[in-house]
Amino acid sequence: QRTSPAQCEFYQAVEEVLDSLSPVLESNTRYQKEAIIQRMVEPERQLMFRVPWVDDQGNIQVNKGYRIEFNSALGPYKGGLRFHPSVNASIIKFLGFEQIFKNALTGLPIGGGKGGANFDPKGRSDGEIMRFCQSFMTELYRHIGPTTDVPAGDIGVGAREIGYMFGQYKRLTGRYEGVLTGKSLLWGGSLARKEATGYGAVYFAQYMLEARGDSLQGKKCVVSGAGNVAIYAIEKLYQLGATPVSCSDSRGTLHHDQGIDLALLKEIKEVRRASLKEYLDTHHDAHYIPATDYPEGGHSVWHIKAEVAFPCATQNELTEQDAKTLLENGCIAVSEGANMPSTQAAVDAFIEAKIAYGPGKAANAGGVATSQLEMAQNASMQTWSFEKVDEKLKVIMKNIFDAANETATEYGQPGNLVVGANIAGFKRVADAMIEQGIV
Ligand code: NDP
Repeated sequence: QRTSPAQCEFYQAVEEVLDSLSPVLESNTRYQKEAIIQRMVEPERQLMFRVPWVDDQGNIQVNKGYRIEFNSALGPYKGGLRFHPSVNASIIKFLGFEQIFKNALTGLPIGGGKGGANFDPKGRSDGEIMRFCQSFMTELYRHIGPTTDVPAGDIGVGAREIGYMFGQYKRLTGRYEGVLTGKSLLWGGSLARKEATGYGAVYFAQYMLEARGDSLQGKKCVVSGAGNVAIYAIEKLYQLGATPVSCSDSRGTLHHDQGIDLALLKEIKEVRRASLKEYLDTHHDAHYIPATDYPEGGHSVWHIKAEVAFPCATQNELTEQDAKTLLENGCIAVSEGANMPSTQAAVDAFIEAKIAYGPGKAANAGGVATSQLEMAQNASMQTWSFEKVDEKLKVIMKNIFDAANETATEYGQPGNLVVGANIAGFKRVADAMIEQGIV
């Protein structure tokens, strides 16, 4: 029942999961008797707090901070923090809900949580970012801990922000412990964490294609986003012999048909934090399509002809019209690096066309899985090599693909990884909740 109409993204995420669960709910009456669904859609705890800070002009600014501790049946709450002006209670709740199933699918001992603030880091100085992060942590620190709730990064939160928040946590508690993941490699971070979500989404695409007797080798790929996930998806695509021809940010889409210049993209986005338009200064054969020129109800990046698509920017960035255009242009696989990037109608179009479609909660789980590997290294005071972490990531992504694929077949919908991922994730959490009693 929709009791809070404003929470549209949350309802969208819940409906997508519940639609898939009917076969498992019908065959196992215990889940209904135990009111598992009713308990699962209600977060264990939701925090909303004031984040006051002072900008460079001396003005007092106030933002809204959030942390949702959704489900701890499988372990400490785990999920990122998002700093973006679009953040609200519905966005955080949908992300936290998705996180429960994603984390369960990894097979690792982590519960589901998410958080963030409606703060816009764009155009803010380093000092402003630091003061904002310190204020955010001044409230959050009392709710988190290495065995209770371990936040990470997400949109707008990278190693710099994690560093400022960790510093403040340490100052407030006097403890140096693994309370955040995505930390700098200088002081407790894990090698390959930065790369993990993008790499993982590409490994997932490779496993989907292999199951169909194909591979990424020689494939033209479209990627959206130009942040952490998109950049490392592009890097891994090159390593596997594919050609990524696009990326995008909130202002526009970059199309370079001979392949995106990865070194330049990193320079523009990771170092200069500038617009993708600057790419054209050195590559005159590339095209830049400003967001104002996108087709109505669609996104130009999905109108570039390609065989495999990687949505790696944000929720609902790929509409039904975009999905149809991708299919008409011969797209055979979609692997979601972002969370819920495809609208429900777009997902339906992919499923109906029977292309290889990897939903975000399976395809982008490599990030949180590697965060758990960071927690394991922190807890055991060890540092693993890049190769060791990457190898574990590959195995985890294969296990996630196999679990989703086999579950889809078991429940009579072979190839439907939405159904497979939702049921496999749900069963693990539901069974743990039952064993732990009515709490
Ligand atoms: P970043 O902040 O590093 O990058 C986000 C990218 O998406 C930027 O290029 C940004 O453009 C673009 N973007 C953000 N919001 C919008 C919007 N409303 N419209 C158009 N473009 C937008 O974030 P990440 O790469 O970390 O995250 C991308 C997605 O992946 C998110 O959905 C996130 O939840 C998901 N994800 C991330 C994980 C991680 O480990 N980082 C793990 C699992 C999922 P601009 O810079 O112009 O704003």
